Amino acid sequence: MNRRRLFAVFFSPLLAWGQAAAATFRGKLLAGQVLDSASGRIRLTGDEPTLGVLNDPRVIGLDLELTGQSRGPDALEIDPIHKKAMYALKDGKRLFVTYWCDICSIRTYTPGQCWCCQEQTELDLRERYE
Ligand SMILES: [Zn+2]
Repeated sequence: MNRRRLFAVFFSPLLAWGQAAAATFRGKLLAGQVLDSASGRIRLTGDEPTLGVLNDPRVIGLDLELTGQSRGPDALEIDPIHKKAMYALKDGKRLFVTYWCDICSIRTYTPGQCWCCQEQTELDLRERYE
């Protein structure tokens, strides 16, 4: 192995990481925070509300569009929840992933109990964010 090649092997991952670029992936969400995209399996990270969505059994198995920053060739850090970086792709539509409490008419963006009545919120994929 010559010196140039050695450089490439050791430093390309670092360079790739340093050049974290905006990226959008589409694919099917698998359990364990993995997206099965056309360019291979992408490991996903993000803030706590985002991880809540990725680990929701009702969302796992759906086709999603995710936007964030590349963290290497097979990893994506999804943008923070307030940047609306996650969509479900269904029936040719791009839908926001939201959660809804029918009792209180309160909308949230990560699964869990309603902060008002403590009931579990329902997954509500919709064209409008609010
Ligand atoms: Zn409620």
